[in-house]
Amino acid sequence: MDTIIVVWVFYSFIAAYVADARGHNPLLIFVISIFFSPIAGLVVCLGKPINQLRLDMKGVESGRLKECHYCKEYIKSDAIKCKHCNENNYH
Ligand SMILES: [Zn+2]
Repeated sequence: MDTIIVVWVFYSFIAAYVADARGHNPLLIFVISIFFSPIAGLVVCLGKPINQLRLDMKGVESGRLKECHYCKEYIKSDAIKCKHCNENNYH
């Protein structure tokens, strides 16, 4: 019985990790996984499209991404030229 609980919680963490990697709320998916099943949590987070805006905001917070000064799209923080509008971003 204890093994089932450990495996259940372990796979619930994996579902939460997958949710976070796809830009969804990991706590919500973890709660769904604990109360229903980790498979239900995975189905919910894989059924929703990737939340690119949330992933971009996390990239800006971590310093991995910055906003282009011209087109306002997110680009890598050390990029010199924007991949979206081809303008120079030296600063
Ligand atoms: Zn741009």
